Amino acid sequence: MSSHVPIIRPPDTVLEIVRTLRNAGFETWCVGGAVRDALLGHDNLDWDLATVATPPQVRRLFTRTVPVGIEFGTVGVLDRHNRMHEVTTFRRDVQHDGRHAVVEFGASLEEDLARRDFTINAMAFDPLSNALHDPFGGRDDLAKGVVRAVGVAEERMQEDRLRALRAMRFAARFDFSLADDTWHAIVNSAPHLTRLSPERVKQEIDKTMEQARRPSHAFRRWRESGAFAAIAPPLATVSDEVLQAVDCLPAPAAVTRPQRRALRIAVLCSDLAPTECDALLRALRFSNQDIAWITAVITGWQRCDNMLVSALATEAGVSDRMLRSVVASVGRLRMGACLRVAAARWQARCDSGAPNADGSHAPLPTTQQIRRLYRRALRSAFNDALETADLAIDGDDLRQLGVRPGPAIGQLLKALLAEVLDHPERNTRDALTARARSLRVDA
Ligand code: ATP
Ligand code: MG
Repeated sequence: MSSHVPIIRPPDTVLEIVRTLRNAGFETWCVGGAVRDALLGHDNLDWDLATVATPPQVRRLFTRTVPVGIEFGTVGVLDRHNRMHEVTTFRRDVQHDGRHAVVEFGASLEEDLARRDFTINAMAFDPLSNALHDPFGGRDDLAKGVVRAVGVAEERMQEDRLRALRAMRFAARFDFSLADDTWHAIVNSAPHLTRLSPERVKQEIDKTMEQARRPSHAFRRWRESGAFAAIAPPLATVSDEVLQAVDCLPAPAAVTRPQRRALRIAVLCSDLAPTECDALLRALRFSNQDIAWITAVITGWQRCDNMLVSALATEAGVSDRMLRSVVASVGRLRMGACLRVAAARWQARCDSGAPNADGSHAPLPTTQQIRRLYRRALRSAFNDALETADLAIDGDDLRQLGVRPGPAIGQLLKALLAEVLDHPERNTRDALTARARSLRVDA
């Protein structure tokens, strides 16, 4: 069981923690994701440890600890770089209701591994002796590229419905297949996924967007298993084209590009009516900021899809005037995102040969056209007057001209903005004052 283990080298700080526990007489192993990822040759910064020591015993051995989940046996140990490593007491599940586990300590390593979800996640590695403990054939499954439940798949999914979503995420992340029994158990789990808290569902969507190069591999399975129908009904019949478009956007580099996650979610929702999208994201407990941004971006995309496709197909292309009006209606801060959604959707539409939104097969914008449009749109967003606040006169000026305070002011400012979008050179005090006077006379 422990032969021919490739060299897995956890960081020294992790080795120190293992050594401290071992020297105090406590059996301790590296477990879970980091062992799996190391065997795959991937980096993983979270080296979780499992030990026979109880949480109080762990806390007594280290000077700086954080009680991250004492009731589940988890103590965070801070290393000298202030990095936290989770040390969890061997445990077994004594009760499970599909959502929450009640755990019991005093278990063995075997029992601890047996309660884990998939064979590839149920290996333990001893960095001091370089021994791998792999009772469920995780290494074999890694080599074959299979996500397989530990034990009887049906029972394991009944214990914790989240495992269905986790399985689909891991398969997409590593480009693995799902073992037959595991897939059947996922399909049977789908109607029961409504029991999961929206927060946990959201977290799975986020992680899938963050971890998978091709999230479509996960979400196609969400659709086929009935998971979407249960927990995100508006996405139950999401098209292949939309799913493919999600893959066209780069994966978010964890911390540096958080907006990429939201962008991928915007593409996933890009065929939903904005109100439907808003309601879905709200039900899944997305932040108000995310909801507002994603909904506005897809509104913008739906508004400009046909318009831009048709204009770009003509020789004249998109005029400055049209571009200003598109940027104004989408919003200057959202235009870049909207064009990224557009680029992904057009790319996927092109790859799949699907018709345009109006049913036509007008030629789709080329990468070069989109790039040019993107640069022009950003320039416009920076330089042009696109909101009433950018006008050379404001509400106070209009009041001084004798316009009655109230809705009339807003209406007049909107009319002036429309004028300026068509003729940017008229955005001066004199021109707008004159225009405001004449508009009032007209009214
Ligand atoms: P990641 O790199 O995404 O963090 P991970 O495998 O470390 O992947 P975690 O969610 O951090 O995943 O969980 C750590 C380990 O705990 C898993 O590898 C698995 O062994 C176990 N585990 C986590 N969630 C479950 C679950 N719902 N059911 C059973 N075991 C689980
Ligand atoms: Mg982890």
